[in-house]
Amino acid sequence: MKMRIFLAALAAIILLSHVSVAASPLETLMGLAMGDTAEVPIIMYHALEDTPDNRWEITLQEFEDDLKYLAEKGYTSVVMQDLIDFVHNGKPLPEKPIVLSFDDGRMPTANIILPLLEEYDARITMAIIGRETDHYTELDKNGASSRHPHMTWDQVRTAHETGRVEIQSHTYNLHGPNGAKKKKGESVDAYRQRLMADLQKFAEKLHENVGITPNSLAYPLGAISSTSDDIIKEAGYLASLSCYEKNNTITVGDADSLYSLNRFLRPPHKSSGEFFAVLNDNKMMNEDND
Ligand SMILES: [Zn+2]
Repeated sequence: MKMRIFLAALAAIILLSHVSVAASPLETLMGLAMGDTAEVPIIMYHALEDTPDNRWEITLQEFEDDLKYLAEKGYTSVVMQDLIDFVHNGKPLPEKPIVLSFDDGRMPTANIILPLLEEYDARITMAIIGRETDHYTELDKNGASSRHPHMTWDQVRTAHETGRVEIQSHTYNLHGPNGAKKKKGESVDAYRQRLMADLQKFAEKLHENVGITPNSLAYPLGAISSTSDDIIKEAGYLASLSCYEKNNTITVGDADSLYSLNRFLRPPHKSSGEFFAVLNDNKMMNEDND
């Protein structure tokens, strides 16, 4: 962890020194200027089930309808790394970017989603729970199953290798009722240590099993304390996802614009047109929308 903080500081020093000697600071960016903004809606999915029995599950057909609808309306799915590249490097986003995020890393979802992502040339961000991945990797070795199994590390790696599924953190083991929030009566220092330890464990497990480093955290249940984002920044996370149902404006050069990003929950039993009307309220869709 210390090494990552050191590297981040070193990168910042290099960036700053580079900017100060350049003829124009803007030339160091990839096509955009400091202060340029982008509107990016983020959708929150969890699992795809034949018969959704709660507001966090939708059918495969509903998800396919969403992909079709977004393609027709000119949206391009992007992942968290694209938002980070926009803010930190000034790398342009497509004209109408949208992030399709999946929380929890549930297994049926991973198995059936990949052919659809190929068909619609789409990408998703999947925030997995480290402990569940460990648990189901063990169960899988023993041939056990359950109605709501989670992905195993092999499946996470396979999904990552398709280039269509960006793997991020949903914490290692803070998916209980309190989420990653500070507990009642817990000191800020104790909270910081507890959260840092969890983030570090997740990062180690992901690196060990998939060979990558997470840069975004989806807060379980969207539960956040006033110090949460500062702690995850210190741990090297460049972005975080909340559950407030609003749009986002991110800004080139404003690293803080990537934290506690809002997400719209996609519930079952709604057509794509009905659901994505939430974006109309924020003037995200074209004028010619229905
Ligand atoms: Zn979750």
